[in-house]
Amino acid sequence: MPEVQTVQGAVDAGELGLVLAHEHLRFRDEAVVAQWPERYDEQAELDAALEAVAAAKSKGVQTIVDATAMFGGRDVRFMKQVADQTGVRIVACTGIYSYDYLPHYFENRDVDAMADHFVADIEHGIQGTDIKAAFLKCAADEAGVTENVEKIHRAVARASLRTGAPIMAHSMPAVATGPRQVEIFAEEGVDLSRVQIAHCGDTEDLDYIEGLLASGVYVGLDRYGLEMFLPIDKRNAIAAELLRRGHAERILISQDYCATIDWYPAEAKGVFEGQGAIRNWSMTLVFDEVVPALRELGVMDDATFKTVFVENPRRWLTA
Ligand SMILES: [Zn+2]
Repeated sequence: MPEVQTVQGAVDAGELGLVLAHEHLRFRDEAVVAQWPERYDEQAELDAALEAVAAAKSKGVQTIVDATAMFGGRDVRFMKQVADQTGVRIVACTGIYSYDYLPHYFENRDVDAMADHFVADIEHGIQGTDIKAAFLKCAADEAGVTENVEKIHRAVARASLRTGAPIMAHSMPAVATGPRQVEIFAEEGVDLSRVQIAHCGDTEDLDYIEGLLASGVYVGLDRYGLEMFLPIDKRNAIAAELLRRGHAERILISQDYCATIDWYPAEAKGVFEGQGAIRNWSMTLVFDEVVPALRELGVMDDATFKTVFVENPRRWLTA
C-alpha cells in the first residue's frame, strides 16, 4: 500500500487502522500566543491533548487526522509530543484556515506563490522539522467564498495537483458554501475523489449533501457534540439516511473536537454545556453514542463501521 505521512514519519496506509478523520489536539491563534504567551498554560494544553487522545485510543483509535492549519496554531512539534506519548499516529496538514482575512504577506503574493508554501510543507517538512503534511486545508464559512477564500482554495487545489495530497475544506452548509468550493476545485482540475467537504453533518438538508456527493467528494459528518449547529439525534438521522441510500463509502464521521481552544474564556465551556450548545463533546463521543445509535438504527454493521472509520480515511488520504 502507499505511504501516508504522519508526525512520526511515513507509515504504510494499511497501518493507519481506525481513524478519526477530523479533530484538533489544540486550537489557538498563533498571533495571540506569540504576543501574550503568558496567557496560555502549555502544560494544561498538553495534558488535555494527551487525555483526549488516550481516551480515543481506549476506543481503538490508531490514527487521528489533525485538521489544524495556519491561524489554528498548527504546531507539529506539539503534535509529535502527543503522538510519541500516546502511541497514536497524528496526521498533519498544511493550508490556511481563514474565513476571509489574509495577511498582507499573502495578499501581495499570487496563488502559485501561496501554493509553493503548501508544497514545501508536503515535500520538505513543516516549521523547520522533517515532519511532512499529508493533506491540504482551506475553509469557507458565513462570509461565503470571498475573494481571499477563493485564492486559498485555488492555491490548495494547485498544491494538491503538484503533490497528489488530498484536500479537506471546512464548509458552512447554512450558507451553502459547499457547491462553490467544489466548483473551484473542479475548475482547477482536482480529482474530486480526493476532496473532503467538512461539516456537511451540520445540516438536515439531504438534497444539499447528496448534491455534493454526486460530484464524487467525501462529506464530513464531523461535528458530533456541537449541538449549536445540529443536535446529535438529528445528525444521526441524517447519517442513517445517507447510509441507507448507499453513501457509506463517502462518509467520514468525527467530532471536530478541540482538546483546548482559545476562542472563548475558560468559563465558556461550562456555560455552553449549560445552555446545551455543546453536549458530551469529546474525542470519544462517536464511539460512546453515535456508533451505538447507528447500530440500533440498523445502518452500521461491522462492515460499514470498517468502511467509514478505516477504509474511507485511508482511501481519501491515499487515492
Ligand atoms: Zn476542525
